[in-house]
Amino acid sequence: MDFKQIERKRRSETLSKYIQSVPGFNSRNDSSLRRLSTTVDRCASWLLYHEYYTENDVRLVAAETCKKHLLCPFCASRRGSRSIAKNMPKIMDYIAESPKLIPVLITLTVKNGPDLGERYRHLKTAFGKIRKRRSDSLRLDSRRGLASSEFGKIDGAVYSFEQTYNPDTGWHPHVHIMAFLTDYLDMVALSQEWHDLTGDSFIVDARRIYPNSAGHGALGIEGALSEVYKYAVKLSDMTNELTWHAYTVLRGKRLTGALGALYGRVVESDELMDEEIDDTPYVWRFYRWSRGRSTYDIASTGTRGDMNPVDSVGCRASLDGADNSERRPLEIIDPASGLILPY
Ligand SMILES: [Zn+2]
Repeated sequence: MDFKQIERKRRSETLSKYIQSVPGFNSRNDSSLRRLSTTVDRCASWLLYHEYYTENDVRLVAAETCKKHLLCPFCASRRGSRSIAKNMPKIMDYIAESPKLIPVLITLTVKNGPDLGERYRHLKTAFGKIRKRRSDSLRLDSRRGLASSEFGKIDGAVYSFEQTYNPDTGWHPHVHIMAFLTDYLDMVALSQEWHDLTGDSFIVDARRIYPNSAGHGALGIEGALSEVYKYAVKLSDMTNELTWHAYTVLRGKRLTGALGALYGRVVESDELMDEEIDDTPYVWRFYRWSRGRSTYDIASTGTRGDMNPVDSVGCRASLDGADNSERRPLEIIDPASGLILPY
């Protein structure tokens, strides 16, 4: 068991407790906060791993999940790692098809401020405008010689919004863009263009990506994709109060996307579990969270062919897809000990 996983589960327990202090938690007419607190609390309370010992590969194939990736470190981490695994081959195919494109990681920022909602909308609006300039530029440039945007050099890109917080200067939303360029960017021109659109920020950054780099400190494709698919809100850096605030402002918002040649081709993963490997022997391990000891215990284990606790109740398909707040087939909370009993 990965220690980071234990830390994530501990954090979601403290967030679940924090939600109990939010005004309205005890409302008679509205049980949504109580349901949310319970859903987050139960997330990752059991985990089923397959250890493919001949392949030296361990995969998480089933778990209780809350899918509140803005609140829950477990779901945020799963979503990020699944999105990278799912999209890496698509990016590599794109590079093979268009070997002359120049891959870069661009970051666009706006000035920090106290109001996250206002700063986020400001960034989103400016980013929308620069994307519009890109499409206008692609339509007009070739015919009329109007070089209207540095963004016109982007053939395809995948992007995400991230928000960090600085106690002195406030919220800092920014957008990471993994872009594939038809020509080198003029950084001075891009900075000026970004300032024209935001009115408050010249700050743009671009780092070259080296697709064939094997370490050596250079930014490779996977490293750049990790920047794009890392947490929308860095949960480990924030207090429960700030995390809750960011959740209330950003929930339901589309925080990632793709444009140009990668539009519709690269999408964020909703699937949180790893894929199983067919026709390969494995050992399965079923872990259960111990509330009392604040760590995971191995509840049972077996090999391929042995019935595991998830298959044995025949509800696997419902575990990682549907809204788990509605159906929770595997768990009973023991009222005496407070421990979650999986079956
Ligand atoms: Zn979760």
